[in-house]
Amino acid sequence: MGDIFVVAEHRQGEIRDVTYEMLYKAHELCRALSHRLTAVVLAGKDEGLSEALARMADRVLVLEDKGLEHFDADFCKEILNALIQEHRPFLTLMGHASWGMDLAPALAVKTRYPLATDCVDLLLEDGSLKAVRQIYSGKIFSKVGFMPCEGYLVTVRPGAFPVPEGAEDRHGEVVHQDVPAGLSPGRKEFVELVDTGAGEVDISQAELLVSIGRGVGEEENIEMIKDLAQAMGGTLSCSRPIVDKNWLPKYHQVGTSGKSVKPKVYLALGISGAFQHVAGITGAGTVIAVNKDKGAPIFRVADYGVTDDLFKIAEALKEKLTP
Ligand SMILES: Cc1cc2nc3c(=O)[nH]c(=O)nc-3n(C[C@H](O)[C@H](O)[C@H](O)COP(=O)(O)OP(=O)(O)OC[C@H]3O[C@@H](n4cnc5c(N)ncnc54)[C@H](O)[C@@H]3O)c2cc1C
Repeated sequence: MGDIFVVAEHRQGEIRDVTYEMLYKAHELCRALSHRLTAVVLAGKDEGLSEALARMADRVLVLEDKGLEHFDADFCKEILNALIQEHRPFLTLMGHASWGMDLAPALAVKTRYPLATDCVDLLLEDGSLKAVRQIYSGKIFSKVGFMPCEGYLVTVRPGAFPVPEGAEDRHGEVVHQDVPAGLSPGRKEFVELVDTGAGEVDISQAELLVSIGRGVGEEENIEMIKDLAQAMGGTLSCSRPIVDKNWLPKYHQVGTSGKSVKPKVYLALGISGAFQHVAGITGAGTVIAVNKDKGAPIFRVADYGVTDDLFKIAEALKEKLTP
């Protein structure tokens, strides 16, 4: 039986959603291939990380080391290379997030395994692994194959797969392993963690997003939409022109050069639906669009559409929400 490795990405003692999303997909592949699903935890200390992952994996490999307190791509690359040589997994998944982007290319060079990055799907065709990637800024989905090899490396776009609702009850085996002798942290020094959400907003984790586009017209109008988002229990996000005008910070931006989001509901107000924007909402549950132009491309991806002035709809919604 082969293995599929999922490299757990975690920060400040919390497993990032992309890890659960990878486990979701890996589980599906393992079922089809009769492989074992192994989550790999590289951490300073395993404080509940393996316990959470064991519910969704057949096995959790845990390697603790002081040098892993803060992510160090060089050190992780050396450790993962050693693990891959020892366990020979068929596939190793990493998040296409800060860890994976830093780690995966170097690991591919080290292992000489083929790597596909920023994948939005993985599938099997006649027993061969294929990866789906977006090209031309999300305009086209391309299916890529791999050069035949003993193992493959893939980074997965955050939000590409669902986070399974409620923990699965797997009781995977937790195996503690020592960091291979002779390996030590690389040349990088951890300075500080700067939270891109500045501790305020993380649109990639929001369940309800109220998103504004250029249709909002003036900077002053943003306040009322912000109030609406708050009244609805949602988070404010936006299209790129709003960030380009410096009306909102970059971490609010949805799209190919912003963030991929996966809210249960995405309410798009005055957004035309350019493909660079829409590529960021493929993981959204229900998309509701308000646009005064009935030909706006956003209506092609919307589950519900309202052809009207966004302020009229925002006022009506606010009235409904005001006791
Ligand atoms: C390399 C590259 C990367 C990019 N990355 C991103 C990205 O990550 N995210 C992103 O969003 N864009 C991105 N863009 C820009 C993208 O191409 C579009 O220009 C942008 O998404 C348009 O934003 P918008 O829909 O807010 O504005 P517009 O296209 O100008 O649309 C505004 C819409 O508002 C409607 N409207 C106007 N007034 C009202 C009203 N009162 N009520 C209702 N509707 C109204 C209009 O009918 C129109 O459809 C990128 C572009 C490039 C080249």
